[in-house]
Amino acid sequence: MSESTPPTIPVRLRHRPLTAGLVVPWITAQTADGRYRFGAVDADRAAQALHRRWCQICGHPLQARYVFAMRDRDLRRHIAAEAAMHPECFHYSIAACPMLAGRMDHYRASGHATAFTGVGIVLGDPDGHRAGQPAEAWHAVWARDYTVITDPITNLPAALLLPNQILRVRPITARG
Ligand SMILES: [Zn+2]
Repeated sequence: MSESTPPTIPVRLRHRPLTAGLVVPWITAQTADGRYRFGAVDADRAAQALHRRWCQICGHPLQARYVFAMRDRDLRRHIAAEAAMHPECFHYSIAACPMLAGRMDHYRASGHATAFTGVGIVLGDPDGHRAGQPAEAWHAVWARDYTVITDPITNLPAALLLPNQILRVRPITARG
């Protein structure tokens, strides 16, 4: 993935700090001295976002319709490991790093992919042994409601989506 001009930052994200021209997501972990730990998620913030129905990118309340990024295996279970996003925050995150699965799960050593990360990097590949392999298929799941549960596989908070809460499902493609 070649480096290019950072995408335009939507108004909803202008309050967020930047690194290398890219928005730092609200759930990104920070060190004690205030630096962002790219590739790591603040577990408390991740849980807060789920419980309070806040967007994981901007940290503000979700509105009527929002988007979860879900892997194949999670979509089959109707369980999202990460908090949802406003549509514009989701679109920004896709534009910031088109390989959504890469930023969340793999390719941690490559460029700004590491600046955009989600819980998936904790859940999906704790040892990094899959880095560089083809990313798993991800889906944009538009929803209007969800229930916070404890994921029986990870023992972490997650969003359970009932069929009637899912508005539509679209593949997230890496490069068009
Ligand atoms: Zn947002």
